[in-house]
Amino acid sequence: MEWRTDCSIIPAISPAIAIDMNGKSNDPRVAWLQDPHAECSPPSNPGGICWRLVLFGPPGAGKGTQAHLLSRRLHACHLSTGELFRSAASYNPCSLTPAMTTALEHMRHGALVPDSTVWAMVRERSGCLHCRGGFLLDGFPRTLAQAEALQVFLEKEQIALSAVVDYELPLDEIILRLGGRRTCEQCNSVFHVIQQPPRTEGLCDHCGGPLIQREDDRPEAIAVRLKVYQQRTAPLVQYYRQLGLLLPVAAAGSPDMICERTVTALEQHRPFAA
Ligand code: AMP
Repeated sequence: MEWRTDCSIIPAISPAIAIDMNGKSNDPRVAWLQDPHAECSPPSNPGGICWRLVLFGPPGAGKGTQAHLLSRRLHACHLSTGELFRSAASYNPCSLTPAMTTALEHMRHGALVPDSTVWAMVRERSGCLHCRGGFLLDGFPRTLAQAEALQVFLEKEQIALSAVVDYELPLDEIILRLGGRRTCEQCNSVFHVIQQPPRTEGLCDHCGGPLIQREDDRPEAIAVRLKVYQQRTAPLVQYYRQLGLLLPVAAAGSPDMICERTVTALEQHRPFAA
């Protein structure tokens, strides 16, 4: 399959991220979330192991929360395609390219963004896949075509994935988690109305920003997302199992417990890590 790789879908850097006199940013995700050409400082990695992981699992399994916790434990950068789209959505609508406008429309309804757009965005940020700090891919790949494009790219660039962590969760728990999820509009922190309520209702514990229900966490969109997951994303389990990369982890329990479980599973899997 031929992929478009040269389009600059998201406009250059947002004023929210500070760049120093040498053109460097202290935000390790500036190159992913804002400007693929920005030079960011990867997190320091005292442990020395460079983890290159795909975090996989149904919507609501907690991939984003785990990516956040794991990025601190493993010192690897959290690269979320969903966050990339949400970050683009916060720009002035006039500055969005037609491809991004279409992508955001798909996202609002819980549908998948077209593969060509997703891959163009990831390809544009391929420097992040070379990062010496490693990476935690969250929400990508989501289709067989995306997984194959990623695999071809990684093999060509001689980058080895350490593992694909597959977070497993029963359907009733998925629906409960997604329906009660609230996200901070300012800093993207995630809460749950029952399982992890904020100290003050409707406000983020970390930055005081307003907590909102993501459009794609509304019941109509949840139904679409789960169907799409079954049809288009779940087959990747088999794909990565065949590559010997699949690492199943139970996603029930508190975020800290799941994180601990993941780190233990990764340590046992370590012989495969580059
Ligand atoms: P997430 O934050 O990972 O749940 O992603 C939110 C939404 O962004 C998804 O429901 C999709 O509409 C879109 N999206 C994120 N990543 C991808 C991807 N790899 N392929 C297609 N659509 C994506």
